[in-house]
Amino acid sequence: MLDLVIIGGGPAGLTAGIYAQRYMLKTVLLEKQLVGGQVQLSDVIENWPGIKSISGMELSERFEDHAKSLGLKIEYGEVTGIDERDGKRVVKTTDGEIETRTVIVATGARPRELGVPGEREFRGKGVSYCGTCDGPLFRGKDVLVVGGGDTAIKEAIYLSKLVNRLYVVHRRDQLRAEKILQERAFSIENIEFKWSSLLTRIEGKDGVERAIIHNKKTGKDEAIEVEGVFIFVGIVPNTEFVDVEKDEWGFIKTNQRMETSREGIFAAGDCRATPLRQITTAVGDGAIAAYMAEQYVARMG
Ligand code: NAP
Repeated sequence: MLDLVIIGGGPAGLTAGIYAQRYMLKTVLLEKQLVGGQVQLSDVIENWPGIKSISGMELSERFEDHAKSLGLKIEYGEVTGIDERDGKRVVKTTDGEIETRTVIVATGARPRELGVPGEREFRGKGVSYCGTCDGPLFRGKDVLVVGGGDTAIKEAIYLSKLVNRLYVVHRRDQLRAEKILQERAFSIENIEFKWSSLLTRIEGKDGVERAIIHNKKTGKDEAIEVEGVFIFVGIVPNTEFVDVEKDEWGFIKTNQRMETSREGIFAAGDCRATPLRQITTAVGDGAIAAYMAEQYVARMG
């Protein structure tokens, strides 16, 4: 029987794995697709202390290498639920069941969809949720970015270097993003802001040809000729499979010890109800969760 199953291989899960190996807990990390999580989609990370600038891909590879060098076992499979049996946890996957004393849920989150006509139809044909992945396809073209948070503005700054003209469509007249990102974006010549505006429709034939936006203040609609629409309007937690207490958006509620409403089940990183979702905060969560799991296992004897 295992001491710990970590679900999810992003920064929170891999950090929990590193700590668990050092605590000598018998651990398996389960990952659905690719180890690394959302960090891998980030062009450049500039707020990981000690490294002024590093690509998301490289930082996540370093996390993985570190965890593996300590002997962390990584397996692939999708978790469908967590049951209880004789005071132990049973992690149910598409391939079977795993018995464990404790579980850390570190499944992160995924981009939120806007739900406008054309969004699903043109996904992969001009509609994207990842600038780093799809940006190079729009070299020299005109594109539009929706959102005013850190992700939207960071991605807009990155994309502005590749594309001809870039429109940022934001529903308010003020950005939510960090001030340093705002200042950088405002100083870039090929970025134009469309304030107090909503993207209402994406149109085209074989691919995106234009986006229709609605200005809430003037009440007017405008068609903008673009070949790419990048949507960054927040994130949805990957927590559907686990039956623990969550907030109104589905993020898992924990206390400061990362304990969820169910004994022996901990949560860490972006899937948790937390005021800040960063690599730095995910890593801190992962360390605490592994420490608490170790304490729990020690108490169980
Ligand atoms: P976010 O901060 O929640 O921002 C979402 C943005 O989308 C907001 O500007 C919001 O507008 C807008 N929005 C939401 N629903 C919308 C809708 N239906 N229609 C139009 N606009 C909509 O999400 P995020 O930018 O993905 O960031 C998530 C977390 O990751 C945050 O904690 C962020 O700080 C962190 N992050 C940090 C970095 C970094 O480099 N430090 C990079 C990326 C992400 P309103 O502003 O009007 O609400």
